[in-house]
Amino acid sequence: MIKRNKIVSGLILLLVLGTACSKSDDNSEEAAALVTVNNKRATGSSSRDLLSDVKFKSMVIELVYVTGFEPSAAAINNLVAFIEARTFKPGGITVLKKEIPSPAKSMYTTAEIAAIEDANRTKYNNGTEIAVWAYFSDGASAENEGNSVVLGTAYRNTSFVIFENTIRRNTSSNPLSNTRSLLETTVMEHEFRHILGLTNLGATLQSDHEDPANAKHCVVNDCLMYFSSEMQVGIGAMAAAGRVPQLDAQCIADLRANGGR
Ligand SMILES: [Zn+2]
Ligand SMILES: [Zn+2]
Repeated sequence: MIKRNKIVSGLILLLVLGTACSKSDDNSEEAAALVTVNNKRATGSSSRDLLSDVKFKSMVIELVYVTGFEPSAAAINNLVAFIEARTFKPGGITVLKKEIPSPAKSMYTTAEIAAIEDANRTKYNNGTEIAVWAYFSDGASAENEGNSVVLGTAYRNTSFVIFENTIRRNTSSNPLSNTRSLLETTVMEHEFRHILGLTNLGATLQSDHEDPANAKHCVVNDCLMYFSSEMQVGIGAMAAAGRVPQLDAQCIADLRANGGR
């Protein structure tokens, strides 16, 4: 089964997985439908388009959050800096923030998250600009089980969700004030790396480093694309180090081989 990607936390961190041709057409409604379909493809399938500037020179990130669940400015800045460091977008990276009211559920399936995207997304690939949808939910993932708690899921080629409410529950008792933005940064960058094609998810492996026990994740245990088994420990170590885990050399090599920086 392929392949949704999610970070799972709790006492246990599970990192599970989870081009239409443009025709000339006089019917503008049909043309509009063709444009949106390019952003509804499988996770990882836009790896090269996101990494290189061959087709897309700039990127817009439509960052939508439920009222009260806006991510920290520091985490957004960290994500943009990460994208700038790993991709070629000479036309720049733009973040458009938008607030929406709560859909009023405590739990959401991936299909429900995708429906929220479909109802609220306004930015799709357009000309030489590629569009990404990032959604910050007020509810929990319906896939949570016991101590296995999903923090984020990359579920389409240019779409991911962050379960911001769950992140806050996991960090609210931590005395270090920047723990939440560190965890937001970690989950956002992890999910973004999945849509960039890691690991073996659109960016072809340049060396044998996919974790055989945890598909689409890296076998290097200090790489962020590693499937870690203890989220609380992971959060503690991250907070103590005061930084987000970095990509290891093998994951960077995969991105470079597929058009990245
Ligand atoms: Zn993952
Ligand atoms: Zn790696």
